[in-house]
Amino acid sequence: MKRALSIYIHIPFCVKKCAYCDFLSAPASPEIQEQYLHMLMQEIRQKAAIYADKYIVKTIFIGGGTPTAVSAELLCCMIEELYRQFSVDKAGEISIECNPGTVDACKLIQYRKAGINRLSIGLQSTLDRLLRILGRIHNYEQFLETFKEARKAGFDNINIDLMSGLPGQSLADYRNTLQQVL
Ligand code: SF4
Repeated sequence: MKRALSIYIHIPFCVKKCAYCDFLSAPASPEIQEQYLHMLMQEIRQKAAIYADKYIVKTIFIGGGTPTAVSAELLCCMIEELYRQFSVDKAGEISIECNPGTVDACKLIQYRKAGINRLSIGLQSTLDRLLRILGRIHNYEQFLETFKEARKAGFDNINIDLMSGLPGQSLADYRNTLQQVL
């Protein structure tokens, strides 16, 4: 019997570096992004040659960086490669980290078609003042737009990232953010 496997895929590209970020991420040209994705697909094939017979994939998490900053065609191509190389549980969870300002309706529909069934949206705060301090590329309005489009595209499993303890963030600010998200 095959054992359960979870796969994490790291996409180390972002539109710009946030002020506080220690993650392995940076802006890169479309050419570099394409080269990286092709190397990733090569690695998927190499790993599959070792593990695919013994395991069934239950979850896939595509994180970063900002995976939604790369072309949806390339990203979906990489997911197809995973499906080709591994047995992936049809009921499994396939998540992608998504930042407002890097997706539109078309991209979200492509993700759903590729089998992604969970979004993790990096909101961080509903206050534009704090988003500016963090150096985020989005404002709250853009988050709302992204969330609405995600629902329309059929995502019914959405996680929202928030940050607490930020410089200049009061307890009331954080409570308001929680209330708005709820
Ligand atoms: S979007 Fe996330 S990974 Fe990218 S620079 Fe900002 S905090 Fe870092």
